[in-house]
Amino acid sequence: MLILRLNKAGLPLGWLNPELAARLYCQNKVLYELGRYQRMLHGGRNVAGLQSTVTISTIIGCTGKTIDSSGKVTLTNRYLFRRDNCLCLYCGRKFPLSKLTKDHIFPRSRGGKDLWQNVATACQRCNRIKGARTPEEANMPLLAVPFKPNVYEQLFLMNRRILADQMDFSSHHFSHHRHWA
Ligand SMILES: [Zn+2]
Repeated sequence: MLILRLNKAGLPLGWLNPELAARLYCQNKVLYELGRYQRMLHGGRNVAGLQSTVTISTIIGCTGKTIDSSGKVTLTNRYLFRRDNCLCLYCGRKFPLSKLTKDHIFPRSRGGKDLWQNVATACQRCNRIKGARTPEEANMPLLAVPFKPNVYEQLFLMNRRILADQMDFSSHHFSHHRHWA
């Protein structure tokens, strides 16, 4: 389980493991809690043998800097396949990660760039058939528009075990309407 960290203004900063979140509580850096769930962490024992506990919320607002929202979301295969819900955007079928490839919509061999807007998840077969052609040339229309994830979509891509309340928070800000897993 990861904790969603927001800044004072409610903008997401990223994910924290519970131990780091507990440290922010102990340092009095947590300003508010938004999560519907809580988790109790056990700390060290004092001289009397009593164990300390910290109760942390699944979404916390803290003092501190925000990530630069103009910053680039790293384009990795893992995030790309997750953006596309592990579907081949040409034949529409779902594949295990090991059977998926990154297709450059406008082919790299012809100057196509390695950017979120120019890549699509493709199965090996479709990628091979399409070759160094555009979808139009290959008569293989894309089933979804490739997009660059915004900061909220990025949060979704980075955490495979997102909790319901964290998803509710993030999904309000998704700018691209797709069926997310
Ligand atoms: Zn395919």
